[in-house]
Amino acid sequence: MRVALAQFIYESNTFNPELAEMSCFTERGVWLTEPAAIKTWAQATDTQLQRSVEVLAEAGHETVPVMVAVCGAPGGRLSAACHDALKSAFLDGLRGAGTLDAMVLHLHGAVAAEGIDDVEGDWLATVRQELGFTGPLVVSLDLHANVTAAMLEHADAITAYRTAPHEDFAETGERAAQLLLDLPESTTRTMAKIAALIPPISTHHEVGPFAEMLNRARDLQRPAGILDVSLFPVQPWLDVEGLGTSVVVTATDPAEGQRVAQQLAEGWYAQRFVWPTGLLAWDELQSRLEPRSDGPWLLVDTADATTGGSDGSSLAAVREFWPRRDNLAGTVLLWVVAPEMVSGDREVGAQVQLDLPDLTVTGELTFAGECQFRPRGKAYTGQLISCGRAQVVASGQLRVIFTERGCLCSDPAFYEAVGLDPEGALAVHVKSLLGWQAGFGVGPERGLYFDGPGMTSLNFARLSFTGARRELWPINPSPPNPISLWQSI
Ligand SMILES: [Zn+2]
Repeated sequence: MRVALAQFIYESNTFNPELAEMSCFTERGVWLTEPAAIKTWAQATDTQLQRSVEVLAEAGHETVPVMVAVCGAPGGRLSAACHDALKSAFLDGLRGAGTLDAMVLHLHGAVAAEGIDDVEGDWLATVRQELGFTGPLVVSLDLHANVTAAMLEHADAITAYRTAPHEDFAETGERAAQLLLDLPESTTRTMAKIAALIPPISTHHEVGPFAEMLNRARDLQRPAGILDVSLFPVQPWLDVEGLGTSVVVTATDPAEGQRVAQQLAEGWYAQRFVWPTGLLAWDELQSRLEPRSDGPWLLVDTADATTGGSDGSSLAAVREFWPRRDNLAGTVLLWVVAPEMVSGDREVGAQVQLDLPDLTVTGELTFAGECQFRPRGKAYTGQLISCGRAQVVASGQLRVIFTERGCLCSDPAFYEAVGLDPEGALAVHVKSLLGWQAGFGVGPERGLYFDGPGMTSLNFARLSFTGARRELWPINPSPPNPISLWQSI
């Protein structure tokens, strides 16, 4: 069998008005279209693509990877030009790959572009309808995907990560390849869409209500006739049609697929009263900020998570801590994306004054330069991440890092790259919802969670959702149609 593969990973937050351009992939991510170059790159990674290529090759099949497009961090919709460039490269790669018997595509499932709400569904439809490909096609998705009928109509099987924060890229690649190898003559895909948004903070795979759902899904995958059961607590900051949490079952027996999807969806929806946001008022947060001997507190800036597509520009934590900077029980490391604050050619050691909106920050400049790092925790380990130019201002117990742009910042290596000591601090600011637990190797109890300005608020009713999205739990406490079923023919 000759199998084409691709990996296209980007996550859109439609509340972020800034359009993503090709530079997100070419300069701050991965962009490859030559099969040989892709294989060389993949060998140094633990990606889905690498593992699916290995599994297929071990089974004696020829693999032709046609494209890798991975963006450095989530953001707004793709610009039309960026989307056209990506899609053209993908289709050209497939057209130029010769005769193909099957495809394994590693996609995200929450990509929106200018004028297109469901990019992955659009690409899969094009593969079937324009390229006329009729062979087996297996898709892996991020569990933050907003799964659509278009995706399920054109794929023979769909699977997803089982971990949040995501650590099981290779396992997901292996599962996708194995689904292809074991694929029966025909499959039925069933989706139960739940009219609810779950705070990502409540979707850890090891603890809490989502861990319980994953266990139930694993048990239900065992009966004959069920090929895969995947759960999708959708990335909630997508104001697009059909947004919702999904259970997706790939089965040989339609009735069994429907039974499993319905049962899991009912159980999941029934959990909705125990999806806490954990948000603290500032007074309570400050009162809990006692020194600890086993590492820092993590100040979790839930509304401005760059890992969820916010722009990182919120000053909420700086405003809160600035007046207390001389009275803190240890150093507190804070971060703001502020391109206008890092352009000056200031000297390290100089006293500086930064005029921010309604706040003036003064102190000693302790770092000025490029902020580049490789995470050493369990998420994005070893990847080169860049936030562009950075400057650090120290005043009292505060250290404020200003960077040119947002990035995946949920790892101590980010602060170390600008000369700070996160492990020795009283508290460290993270613009990440769950990833910091993998990055810092700690549990959810280490977080002090707050809401503020930004595009990833857990207070969903506060966001400018439109249309049917305002009927989703918890924006509407009684959604008119809590669970709807869709099944492929
Ligand atoms: Zn995700």
